[in-house]
Amino acid sequence: MSIKEQYILALDQGTTSSRAILFNHDGIIIGSKQIPFSQIFPKPGWVEHDPEEILATQIEAAQGAIASAQIESDQILAIGITNQRETTVLWEKGTGKPVYNAIVWQCRRSSGICDELKAAGNETEIREKTGLVLDAYFSGTKLTWLFRERPDLRVRAERGELLFGTIDSWLIYRLTGRHATDPTNASRTLLFDIGKRRWDEGLLEMLGVPEEILPEVLPSSGFFGTTKKEFFGTAIPVRGVAGDQQAALFGHACFEPGEAKNTYGTGCFTLMNAGPFPVASEHNLLTTVAWDLGKGYTYALEGSVFIAGAVIQWLRDQMGLLADSAESEDLARSVPDTGGVYLVPAFVGLGAPYWDSEVRGTVVGITRGTTRAHFVRAALEAIAYESRDLLDAMEQDSGRKLTSIKADGGASANSFLMQFQADISDRCVVLPEVTETTALGAAYLAGLAAGYWSGLEDVKRNWRRRREFRPAMDESTRAGLLAGWDKAVASARSFR
Ligand code: ADP
Repeated sequence: MSIKEQYILALDQGTTSSRAILFNHDGIIIGSKQIPFSQIFPKPGWVEHDPEEILATQIEAAQGAIASAQIESDQILAIGITNQRETTVLWEKGTGKPVYNAIVWQCRRSSGICDELKAAGNETEIREKTGLVLDAYFSGTKLTWLFRERPDLRVRAERGELLFGTIDSWLIYRLTGRHATDPTNASRTLLFDIGKRRWDEGLLEMLGVPEEILPEVLPSSGFFGTTKKEFFGTAIPVRGVAGDQQAALFGHACFEPGEAKNTYGTGCFTLMNAGPFPVASEHNLLTTVAWDLGKGYTYALEGSVFIAGAVIQWLRDQMGLLADSAESEDLARSVPDTGGVYLVPAFVGLGAPYWDSEVRGTVVGITRGTTRAHFVRAALEAIAYESRDLLDAMEQDSGRKLTSIKADGGASANSFLMQFQADISDRCVVLPEVTETTALGAAYLAGLAAGYWSGLEDVKRNWRRRREFRPAMDESTRAGLLAGWDKAVASARSFR
C-alpha cells in the first residue's frame, strides 16, 4: 500500500469529550468524530469520570472517524494517543475493570493532603525532582487520597493485583493489553524524577504509593502495543503518546529551543521548548517533559492562565454583555482603547508568575464615560496581558529570546485579541493552517515512529501558517499600557 492510501489515527481524549481524527501525509484532516461524556460531581470541588465511558466513547469516536473518512481500518498505519493530563485511574490487572472512578485533574479532594505535605516540609524535594508545584491538580496526591480512603485497595495494590495509569495508560491497557505510559504523562504524576528519568522511590514513599502499580515509561514516539482485533477489525499499532499540551507543542512543530505555543481556551496554556536539559523556574512556572523521541528527553517550561476565554463566557452568560463570544471582537474594535479601564479576571486567583490563590477579580479605572465596549475590550486585553506576563517569565527563566508565539484554541479566532497580543508582548503571533494541533501532535509522534514521516524536517514542511500578527504598537504606548496593567494587578492583590 502506498503512503497515499495510508493514514494516521489520533485519539484525543479530552476533559469533556473523546475525539478521533484521521490525518493524511500532508497533515490534513480526512475524517473526525467527537463524542461528549458525563461529568460526575460527587461533592463541591470534586470531579470524576467513568473510565469505561471514556473508553467506550473513545472507541466509538475512532470508529466514527474511520467511517466518515470512508477508509478501511487496515489503511491506518498507526495510532497516536493524546489525553487530558493528570487524571488518575486505578484498575484490576486481571480483568481490566476500574476499581474507582477516574479522579479528574480539576478535582480538589486531595488539597488537604497537599497542605499536610507542605507542612512536613516536602515542597522543595518535590519541586526539584518533578519540576511541579505541590498541588492537588497532579496525580500523586489523588492516589494518596484513594489509598487512605480505601485501605482494601492498598492491600490489593501491594499484592500486585491493581494497576495505575493516567488516561493514556488506561486506553493503552484496554486497547492493547500493555501497561505503559510516556514521559510527558509520567512527568505530571508527582512520582517521576524528570532529571533521572525514572519513578522515584522517595516520592513513592512520601505519597504512600506502592511501586507495583506503576506503568512502564516508554518513548513518546515508539511502540506501545497493538490494538486487539475486536476494536477496529484489524490490529493497529499504537506508536505515539503525549499529554494534550505537549502534543500541541509538537503539533505546532516547536522543535527548536525557545519556540512556544499558547492555547487560548477556557484558560490559556503556554508551553515553551526548553531544550535537552530541565530548566528550573524562578517564576513559579512548571518544568516538564515536552517529549521523548527515543534519543533523550526534550523539556518544556509551562505556565497557565486560569481564566482566559472564560472571561468572555462570563461576560456573555453571567453579565449578559454579549450575545455570543465572537461579538466581543467587533465591540472591542468599536472603541480606540478601554478608556483607562483594566479588568483583572482573577476569579479563582492568579497563576504563574504570581501564583496567588487568594486574589479575586477586579475592575479599575471606570468613569461616567465607560461603555459596554470599553468593558469587553478590557476583558479581551486582560487575556493578552496575562499571557504576556507568562511569556516574559519564560524568557527570563530560559535565557532564550522568545520572538514568536504559535496560537490555537477557541479564542484564537478573535483577531483583535491576536493583534493586541502581538502588540502588547512585542512578539509575532502565528496561527497555523490546521488548528487541531493537539491531535496533529499525537499523529506526528505516531507517524514518525512508523516511518510515515521521515523526520522532524518532514513534519516541519507540513506546518503551514494561516495568518501572522506582527507587533505594531509604539514602545511608549506599550510601556504606558503595561504600567497600568501592573497597577491594576497590584490593586487586585491589595484587596483581600
Ligand atoms: P476549551 O477547549 O478550553 O473548552 P476552546 O478552545 O473550545 O476551550 O475555547 C472556548 C473558549 O474560547 C470559551 O471560553 C469562549 O468564551 C472563548 N471564545 C470562543 N470564541 C471566541 C471569540 N471569537 N472571541 C473571544 N473568545 C472566544
